[in-house]
Amino acid sequence: MEQEQTQQEEALMCQSCGMPMHGGELLGSEADGNKTTEYCMYCYEAGEFKQPDITLQGMTDLCTGYMVEEGMEETAARKVLADTLPLLKRWNSTAGSIGM
Ligand SMILES: [Zn+2]
Repeated sequence: MEQEQTQQEEALMCQSCGMPMHGGELLGSEADGNKTTEYCMYCYEAGEFKQPDITLQGMTDLCTGYMVEEGMEETAARKVLADTLPLLKRWNSTAGSIGM
């Protein structure tokens, strides 16, 4: 129950797709060009989500495809995603209005 305030540079995770962002190379960018530590470059670029209309279900399907490509079984991938994606900021926040 202490996830919110712990700073963990080494364990940054995209708050949209759940992808680990090691070292900062995969960080998305804000409109002013600065990096964001919240989302990866595949989800968020220049201050906007790349798929602003995607749903949690859609993101689950998208990520499942990547994980299966990496050798994970689809059922296992979906279980992992079902456990993690709903907890991420993009899907967890009721006040999320970015990109609407
Ligand atoms: Zn992402």
